[in-house]
Amino acid sequence: MSSSYVILGAGVIGLTTALELRERYPQANIIIVAKFLPGDRDASYTSPWAGANWLSVATDNGRQEEWDRITYQKFKELAIRTAEVGVYAMPITAVYDSEIEDAGVLSTGTGKIWYDGLVGGIAMLGEERLPEGAKFGYELSTFVVDTQVYLPWLQGEARRQGIEIRRGMFESLDELFTAFPDANAYFNCTGLGSYSLKGVEDKSIYPTRGQIMLVESPKTTMTRMYFRSPQRVNKDTTYVFPRGPHNGVVLGGIRLDNDWSGEVDLELAEDIKQRCCALAPELGKPEDLKVIYHGVGLRPSRKGGARLERERFAEHLVIHNYGAGGAGYQASWGMARGAVDLLQKDSRL
Ligand code: FAD
Repeated sequence: MSSSYVILGAGVIGLTTALELRERYPQANIIIVAKFLPGDRDASYTSPWAGANWLSVATDNGRQEEWDRITYQKFKELAIRTAEVGVYAMPITAVYDSEIEDAGVLSTGTGKIWYDGLVGGIAMLGEERLPEGAKFGYELSTFVVDTQVYLPWLQGEARRQGIEIRRGMFESLDELFTAFPDANAYFNCTGLGSYSLKGVEDKSIYPTRGQIMLVESPKTTMTRMYFRSPQRVNKDTTYVFPRGPHNGVVLGGIRLDNDWSGEVDLELAEDIKQRCCALAPELGKPEDLKVIYHGVGLRPSRKGGARLERERFAEHLVIHNYGAGGAGYQASWGMARGAVDLLQKDSRL
């Protein structure tokens, strides 16, 4: 008899986990069940609101760096089919307003930026290229994800590969076990939902509110992303992520911990415009930007980092894969691999 798996959650983590599972267990019955699916918009459904790019925040010299490494390599493969998948190869210019030792970019133990080799070399910016006040900066080759294309693509891939997708909202793990009594394992990919899902109720989870806007692509074609911040992870972060040459540009942002509000702050939006135009000359003047929409997303942050763990509830096996914070895209394929590895009891991830 073939095995059967249920994935709770259809954000980037749930969808990617489903595809990884299918790759490793071609004969398995796999069902994704979620309250929100690609196409839906709600501040608590984080994935549609992300920038999103690959600029690792991991410095643990361990599993988080490994998740990002695996995903970078996967994005490299996917970017060959950019138009269909929504992953674009694109360089980024990142500048920091703290000295490198205080910017949260150096890996524990090695004291180096761990992804230098992975991305084909990081080019440090000369002083003449640093904006006023910046302490250091670099450029590297990386990827930007158009979430409006990528999430439906992941969902479409899942369907094409025989994975069933259902809409469903669960109060508790028990309710999930009752609805799907015969599953060999249940993957909990509920992001912020793990804060209140009974049976999990993880109070280490907290929202990190972000605010973005999508603007029309400027006439001067944008071929790079920009990022400026006091530190790699900081509340005063500014970023400009073009979704390819013509699909608009995402401007952000902010990182406010423990803020559950899904409301757009229009004063903040004006400030974001100013900061982004100062950073990316191609955008032109703030007053000339054509805003298509504003958005707020709540990143599923977690004290101690993401939870990838097996847990037994009597005869049911639950594999947790949530709490990716601001790294859910760039860690997605690595976290999915780690979660599926956990089906084997002696897995080390
Ligand atoms: P979600 O996308 O929230 O999905 C959770 C799923 O679980 C949903 O389908 C939901 O309906 C379902 N669910 C929850 N509870 C229940 C329940 N009880 N019953 C049924 N279903 C349930 N990441 C990067 O890697 N790079 C970036 O540049 C980046 N930029 C970002 C910018 C902003 C402004 C924001 C907000 C986020 C950004 N992120 C970025 C972070 C990234 O978006 C998140 O880490 C990621 O989307 C989390 O995905 P997830 O699948 O865990 O959660």
